[in-house]
Amino acid sequence: VDAEVIVIGAGPTGLALAHELALGGAAVLVVEARAEQLEQVKGGAIQPRTAELLDARDLLAPMLELATRRPDVGGHFAGLPVQLDNTVWGTRHPYVISVPQWRIEQVLADAATRLGVRVLRDHAVTGIESTDTEVVVRTAGGELRAGWAVACDGGHSTVRKLLNLPFPGEPGTYVSALADIRLAAVSDRVPTAAGHISEMTRQGAQHWGMLTPVGDGTLYRFVFGNGDGTAPATDAAGVQRALTDIYGEPTRLGELRHASQFGDATRQLESYRHGRVLFAGDAAHIHPPFGGQGLNLGVQDGINLGWKLAATISGWAPDGLLDTYQTERHPLAALVLHHTKAQRVLFHPDAGPDVAALRDIMIDLMRLPDANRWLAGMMSGLDHLGRVPDLDLDTEAGPTRIAELLRPGRPVLLELGGGDLVEPVDQPIRAVRAGAPAQPPATWLIRPDGLLAWSGPVGERPAKPLAELRSVVAAD
Ligand SMILES: Cc1cc2nc3c(=O)[nH]c(=O)nc-3n(C[C@H](O)[C@H](O)[C@H](O)COP(=O)(O)OP(=O)(O)OC[C@H]3O[C@@H](n4cnc5c(N)ncnc54)[C@H](O)[C@@H]3O)c2cc1C
Repeated sequence: VDAEVIVIGAGPTGLALAHELALGGAAVLVVEARAEQLEQVKGGAIQPRTAELLDARDLLAPMLELATRRPDVGGHFAGLPVQLDNTVWGTRHPYVISVPQWRIEQVLADAATRLGVRVLRDHAVTGIESTDTEVVVRTAGGELRAGWAVACDGGHSTVRKLLNLPFPGEPGTYVSALADIRLAAVSDRVPTAAGHISEMTRQGAQHWGMLTPVGDGTLYRFVFGNGDGTAPATDAAGVQRALTDIYGEPTRLGELRHASQFGDATRQLESYRHGRVLFAGDAAHIHPPFGGQGLNLGVQDGINLGWKLAATISGWAPDGLLDTYQTERHPLAALVLHHTKAQRVLFHPDAGPDVAALRDIMIDLMRLPDANRWLAGMMSGLDHLGRVPDLDLDTEAGPTRIAELLRPGRPVLLELGGGDLVEPVDQPIRAVRAGAPAQPPATWLIRPDGLLAWSGPVGERPAKPLAELRSVVAAD
């Protein structure tokens, strides 16, 4: 046996999962098709809920150092020109944080490696077989065996195809392009800083596009498409044509780095588990990227699955814990697919007068505080059931906060405001007594993924704390 878990794919999902599994004590091997990491900006919008989770793993600070911008720009729905205000949700991270995707992957890979995860590059998976006790994974570098395998191999998942699994959903309606470029000359229409998406999106002649400065001044992420939704050319001539149409003749392409096309199909696996093979991230669900959520869903899938699978392997997981990966994460991705369907209608470059009327009504609705709050919660993930606020705490060991208590990746029984803490609690639950100035006294059982599993008055505790970790309850 080569590992307890083989993670297939070193994208953001696979690396977040590998880190979480290793934190939970599992021996993890990541196999990745690419020989070298692709340094592509791609999607890098870290939504507030994901930022909270990364903070609870001490992974946010290194990403903030690499963030290309952090203006206080609110979220968006379908690119419409009203900012979504996340500050009303009570979070330390109310703004989207932009970090090039490959930088996010680098931080996750470094952290996972520090925990003992091995990453084998140039190991494309070509075959997979699962028995009652193990999984055999065939790769370009040889055959590997483990107790479990998790397919995090992206939207075109080879593992999904090898297992002949249907990927039901709706086909795409238009094709867009994505390129990392350097500009040799710019017109005054080229933005000098990133702003709200509604200010960044422009139309011109045959094309629509969004040019976003990244980091060092000359590098831009260019997302563009044909007005009629047909596939745009992604060679240098095609990119130059789009630049000229949208930003004027003086805007000249300097260097064309990675260019690719992407669509707006929405598809989702019915089951995320097939025997000892599980699925996470784009391998399990795809949708149009304009809401900036695919990477976020994938990282959150990885963290949700990671601690549960590690607990299953370690032997402390209550019966059925692993099944809650499907029951918790499938509906959330289904919801994102659902609202991105609505967004692709509103965002469609070739929308007619009916959609224009619908947009106007949506814009008016988004100015109403309740509607704005609701959309902000949905897009940022801050409306997540059971989300525990990151309270400042006073403990015997000094001041801390909930995100810091969660960093070892263990569940926490937190007695807030007085009472005698009765040790011991079941391993690996950690008991902490703390004062929290802004919070009424209570006892909270918090899962490693920062969700509330149980709450009760001070002095009380769940009869079966480990069993409670299968549930999520609303935090008042
Ligand atoms: C234009 C654009 C903008 C986006 N913006 C955002 C955004 O702002 N925020 C956001 O959250 N999301 C965004 N996304 C979506 C985001 O990029 C994806 O959802 C994310 O990359 C999914 O991560 P993943 O790890 O699941 O899959 P991937 O990133 O696709 O990673 C899969 C990995 O598996 C490897 N692999 C593939 N096949 C095999 C095999 N057979 N064997 C071994 N390894 C294999 C691949 O090489 C790759 O490294 C955007 C996407 C696009 C196209």
